Amino acid sequence: MKFIPSRITILLFYMGCFCQFLYGQDSNYIMTVKGKLAVEEMGKTLVHEHIVTNFEGTRNPNQPFKDQEKAINLILPHLNNLKTLGYTTLVECTPSHIGKNVELLQQLSERSGINIITNTGYYAAVDKKYLPESVYSLSPQSIAATWLKEWEQGISATGIRPGFIKLGVGKGELDSIEQKIFKAGLLLGSTTGMALAVHTGDGISIKSQYRLAKKNNFDLNKLIWVHAQNGKNEERIEMAREGIWISLDGVSETRIEEYLNMIVALHDKSLLSRLLLSHDDGWSVEYTEGDLTLKPFENGNSTPYNTISEILLKRLYEQGFSKEQIDLIFVENPKEALGISK
Ligand SMILES: [Zn+2]
Repeated sequence: MKFIPSRITILLFYMGCFCQFLYGQDSNYIMTVKGKLAVEEMGKTLVHEHIVTNFEGTRNPNQPFKDQEKAINLILPHLNNLKTLGYTTLVECTPSHIGKNVELLQQLSERSGINIITNTGYYAAVDKKYLPESVYSLSPQSIAATWLKEWEQGISATGIRPGFIKLGVGKGELDSIEQKIFKAGLLLGSTTGMALAVHTGDGISIKSQYRLAKKNNFDLNKLIWVHAQNGKNEERIEMAREGIWISLDGVSETRIEEYLNMIVALHDKSLLSRLLLSHDDGWSVEYTEGDLTLKPFENGNSTPYNTISEILLKRLYEQGFSKEQIDLIFVENPKEALGISK
């Protein structure tokens, strides 16, 4: 029998096309070390933490931390604790060439049930110590192509894909190498929809990034000012008003008052919808008597990943912050910043 579409069939077909146009084929998702996850599943999130880092630098023989089981035994209880504190996602910000170990992240994610997001990109802060030599001769387009391969095929041979772009730049106006990697980040972010998170030395640097992003029509809702605590209140307010994410990511027991003041300053200007909070905790590889061990960063925190839940939230509630405002900072803002809609 020949199929003759009825008016209703034709109407449904066009409605389907319209819905696909509205919501896209692959509505909003995040890319975790275990693959794509609907952004609604992201839940309470710490947006800037580390698992294992290795600060030896690319110019020195960089021994990766091989003893996975030892690392897992040490770190897993802290991720399990995050789960009991209600977190479901951790964004791991260790850049390439500073000990990023995506297989370890995947194992920890599988065993703990915490979603972990890793990254692609290069880190040019700290005297370019962590940059591969190739950066000096490559164009921004070629650098972006190298990272795009990681996005499409996975990091090294692991098949594990990055969920955001992580760069590092120092203080002051971007120098030529920083500009180059930043342009590569803009290109990759525009192509893939991944957020561009930039470790930034100061407020002058973020303004330099802002101008370059704007010139290239980059969506500022996908630019994260990492370590915005290194800037001034007026700089944070100005950048937040332009639509950039303000990441106050070094919350610690020793700096609670400072963080409260920075948060309240944004709140007073109705800018909580641009705020991200985290600890920047993690472990670094240490070489002791020829053996590799892991040492907590101890950036003013006695236990990794704990201070926000144990101290900061109580203080925010005491200051009159509502549950909705806390959820905005730890659930809605991370979704908006890291969700990918392409
Ligand atoms: Zn960090």
